[in-house]
Amino acid sequence: MSCKRKSENLPEKAEILIVGGGIIGLTIARELVRKGVEDIVILEKESEPGRHASGRNSGVLHAGIYYAPDSFKAGVCLKGNFLMRRYCREKGIKLLETGKTIVARNENEVLVLEELQRRAIANNAWVEMIDEKTLSEIEPNAKTAGKALFSHYTAMLDPRQVINALKNDILKSGNVSLITGTTFKALRGDRKAVTTKGAIEFNILVNAAGAYCDKIAHMFGIGRNYRILPFKGVYWQLKPGAPYTVNGNIYPVPDIRNPFLGVHFTRHVNDEILLGPTAIPAFGRENYGILCGIDAEAPGILWTDIEMMIKNPKFRQVALTEPGKYMKPFFYKDAARLVKKLSPHDLVPSDKVGIRAQLLDINTHELVMDFLVKSDGNAIHILNPISPAFTSSMAIAETIVESFFNI
Ligand SMILES: Cc1cc2nc3c(=O)[nH]c(=O)nc-3n(C[C@H](O)[C@H](O)[C@H](O)COP(=O)(O)OP(=O)(O)OC[C@H]3O[C@@H](n4cnc5c(N)ncnc54)[C@H](O)[C@@H]3O)c2cc1C
Repeated sequence: MSCKRKSENLPEKAEILIVGGGIIGLTIARELVRKGVEDIVILEKESEPGRHASGRNSGVLHAGIYYAPDSFKAGVCLKGNFLMRRYCREKGIKLLETGKTIVARNENEVLVLEELQRRAIANNAWVEMIDEKTLSEIEPNAKTAGKALFSHYTAMLDPRQVINALKNDILKSGNVSLITGTTFKALRGDRKAVTTKGAIEFNILVNAAGAYCDKIAHMFGIGRNYRILPFKGVYWQLKPGAPYTVNGNIYPVPDIRNPFLGVHFTRHVNDEILLGPTAIPAFGRENYGILCGIDAEAPGILWTDIEMMIKNPKFRQVALTEPGKYMKPFFYKDAARLVKKLSPHDLVPSDKVGIRAQLLDINTHELVMDFLVKSDGNAIHILNPISPAFTSSMAIAETIVESFFNI
């Protein structure tokens, strides 16, 4: 591939400086290129883009079901799903377009399924309430309490393939420099970024730093009442050759007061069946292992978790139930409620793990449910880029470029 621009040296100036080479930073760069912007620099602290949430997620293209109809998520999820599918087709990226089933574990959950159906219809998602017979034709091993909800537009892809294709596209345009191994450290004056490779002036800065978005926003005096609280998403997988079929996705009815969807079964494009992810309170923004990724912030995070345990019953529920899922018997028990047959022997650990960078409002002690974008004129901060931000990214990028750029 020929790139017209070199990506190693930090230029002195950029019209647009994007911090973060995850899906949000890359899709915003792509959208700006499409609008004719010629001088974009992306700073990425890792050696390549997509090393954090964007390369570690479930790879599910969500379909607009769960979100309150007046929310930002509802406005961009399904649109993002369609844009991402189109992009995958153009680039020859494999898509599994199987849809997904949401199953109810008891009669109370059927009532929540009905609420999900109402939300989905309001959001123009294509869903159908199905009976157990139809469910058994779609997912023979899935189990439900009478009814299940089927989403036609849910699909799966490999997020790393999308990241690589986007990277190639924006570099090929000749209008983007991707400066890897370079961390944004501080703001000097109004329009100068201090990085580990020197300083760079910018006209507009886009903060797409994922798990660090709050820290950068605070440097601009933005969103001081928000903090990122990390949650760990651990996966298991079905042993190859296990005697159960999972054709697409089997999801539980979630607690819709929390932003997590619950442990589910997902068929990956390479036919691996993944189970997860959990939402275990983590002690660092990159705390992927038990101890690795724990740094000086850990005591502060622990203190916030304790405060949240006391003040927020919804968080308390998550904090009391999720950590047990580190252990196979607890994880197994949760997963087994969705299917007719599953043996613990067929569950094997997966090396896939991600951190959900969840925004917390420290004044209200509530986890923020929706995406949040704040701007102070020459900087735009994408806060709370939680799921389904991968699915929604191309629509988020369109909205941000239309709303905040005068082009
Ligand atoms: C376990 C898990 C499962 C998920 N499943 C799904 C799913 O199935 N479908 C879906 O739509 N979404 C899913 N999501 C959500 C989705 O992955 C994220 O919403 C999305 O990837 C966020 O993208 P981002 O670009 O904001 O963040 P990131 O991917 O984290 O990118 C931010 C980038 O900024 C860089 N960075 C940070 N600080 C600095 C700095 N100071 N200087 C320079 N660079 C910096 C980081 O290195 C990183 O590369 C899931 C998330 C997790 C964790």
